Amino acid sequence: MNTENNSDSLFAIAIHGGAGTILPENMTPELQKEYEAVLKLAVSAGYEILKNGGSSLDAVIETIKIMEDSPLFNAGKGAVFTNEGSNELDASIMLGETLEAGAIAGVSKIKNPIVLAKEVMHHSNHVLLSGKGAEEFAASRGIALIDPSYFFTEKRFNDLQRIKNSEKTELDHCGKTKDSKFGTVGCVALDKNGNLCAGTSTGGMTNKRWNRIGDSPIIGAGTYANNKTCAVSSTGWGEHYIRNIVAYDISAMMEYANKDLGSATEEVIHKKLKATGGEGGVIAIDRKANISFEFNTPGMYRASIDKKGNLYIGIFKK
Ligand code: ASP
Repeated sequence: MNTENNSDSLFAIAIHGGAGTILPENMTPELQKEYEAVLKLAVSAGYEILKNGGSSLDAVIETIKIMEDSPLFNAGKGAVFTNEGSNELDASIMLGETLEAGAIAGVSKIKNPIVLAKEVMHHSNHVLLSGKGAEEFAASRGIALIDPSYFFTEKRFNDLQRIKNSEKTELDHCGKTKDSKFGTVGCVALDKNGNLCAGTSTGGMTNKRWNRIGDSPIIGAGTYANNKTCAVSSTGWGEHYIRNIVAYDISAMMEYANKDLGSATEEVIHKKLKATGGEGGVIAIDRKANISFEFNTPGMYRASIDKKGNLYIGIFKK
């Protein structure tokens, strides 16, 4: 418990459903409503847990599960396809109170990767498990292994074909398409006990190969939480998030350079990440329940319920 940091029992939550080339002209009103409905459902579920005195960990897990179960986002059910036509999922979670963390990478038989990340954190001596070993660990913890065909969605499969067909002209040297939409999901929350938590879940990037792993399961890059500073979840071109240690860098700027949440996220996303050519965004929350949404792409699916109970949902540029 960390009540001295949070004497007002502040609590709040923020989520993202990925950043990228998300433009109003490419969005139908119906699809926009669908996205907004799931964002609202997910953020409200987490908020209810916090309101009832639940932990930020429970809020983050339940919120991310809702987005993983939706085909709209590139996580869980809606995970993108690898070059070989399979789905390889990554996820991570971190607690700001103890700096405990758990993560999994490259699993293809786990319905809710974020739940397995939590199991790794609580019931193994490790932080990051991958592939078959992670699935064996899941089975040993009583988590059902599902048939990988569960992750088939026509839209994501067609995305892979489209990218493969245009591979020669559209892919740059990192295998990223020019109109990339990232679509990872993430959640950050502060509970009434003053504890921060961050979680992230993804299918990675369409057409990835060689068991490529991005930033989402990398603590410090895709996810970071520290009660002294903030909780952060990233979405974007993972290689750049790893190189810039994005989530930890935001926390470090607050801890060592006395930056506030807004200026730390702004500097990382618009200066440091941009400088290496990185695209994407972050959501972050500090121990005073301030929330920051920062992205350098045309859009980022996002929502929050702030310390006053106000719901915000956004998709396009602010
Ligand atoms: N960051 C993820 C990755 O590189 C992709 C995303 O955010 O959608 O795997």
